[in-house]
Amino acid sequence: MQMPADAPVLICSAKGCRDVAVHALLWNNPSLHTEDRRKIWLACDEHREHLEEFLRLRGFLRDTVDAHAIPDGAG
Ligand SMILES: [Zn+2]
Repeated sequence: MQMPADAPVLICSAKGCRDVAVHALLWNNPSLHTEDRRKIWLACDEHREHLEEFLRLRGFLRDTVDAHAIPDGAG
């Protein structure tokens, strides 16, 4: 899919980070969300591992995709 010229710049979700996000972490908290729900954290290269580890430790991490390949309905 072609990105429109005015597509918003995606910014890393890490606290205090203003870098452009290149990864999207898809996660789900089973105590809050139905199993097919996907929440998104955006991450720059530097913070991807840290954010993935945070979610993985809690059993929330489902997938990591390209920031421009976020599935429809996630968020
Ligand atoms: Zn970052």
